[in-house]
Amino acid sequence: MLNIRDLTHVYPNGVRALDGVSLDIPAGMFGLLGPNGAGKSSLMRCLATLQIPSQGAIGFGDIDVLAQPEALRATLGYLPQDFGVYPRVSAEDLLDHLAVLKGVAGRGERRDTVESLLRQVNLWEARKKAVAGYSGGMRQRFGIAQALIGQPRLIIVDEPTAGLDPEERNRFNNLLAEIGEQVVVILSTHIVDDVTDLCPRTAILVGGRIVESGTPSALIAQL
Ligand code: ADP
Ligand code: ADP
Repeated sequence: MLNIRDLTHVYPNGVRALDGVSLDIPAGMFGLLGPNGAGKSSLMRCLATLQIPSQGAIGFGDIDVLAQPEALRATLGYLPQDFGVYPRVSAEDLLDHLAVLKGVAGRGERRDTVESLLRQVNLWEARKKAVAGYSGGMRQRFGIAQALIGQPRLIIVDEPTAGLDPEERNRFNNLLAEIGEQVVVILSTHIVDDVTDLCPRTAILVGGRIVESGTPSALIAQL
């Protein structure tokens, strides 16, 4: 589904954040595991077309991602590590606004989209509250709703459970597992349990290189 070939990224300050990364990511949930500073966010940003890598190639189905970034964006949902929200704007209004930006046409269609997404992430009851006042877990679930606007086929989620308590983490992971049944989900995390619980396939990134890839149980057996 998603094919990454020899991806290298060197920042202007000379940091080589990615160093010849190659990966084939099938449908379903894929876990990218690695310590802080491994290059996970750099890889996620390259995949999300927010950063142009120094070298390499990325394909998603028929899309040559580096040549046609707008084609990928049309089918991409991205949940960055930190996302900003406007203070005082309710979840419902913010999602509606984001749906306009994503090209969901017509008030009626948007209202239906917003309602079904808020119900899916279990925030319908809290729809009138400002996202800025949400708890960490609610905020991440809102992030998923936001990433799902426009029915993307690829979802990229960067360190989503960092800072969540165990109950919220479970709740979030269950939601992600449901989504992973329908689309390609790439989950970047330093939490081993998130990957073993959720992802049939995983890779470990260290120092900008893939050091292992396979099933979580096979990788953990080697640790
Ligand atoms: P991770 O997400 O695994 O923690 P990052 O991709 O954030 O890893 O970082 C990988 C390396 O690249 C780190 O050494 C980090 O300091 C460096 N880095 C990340 N972003 C930038 C940037 N915008 N400019 C320069 N160096 C960066
Ligand atoms: P992560 O938690 O993924 O490691 P970081 O804390 O490394 O994220 O990075 C947070 C932000 O700071 C990112 O936008 C990243 O690009 C930027 N950044 C990280 N390291 C550097 C650096 N050495 N020089 C410039 N920007 C950096």
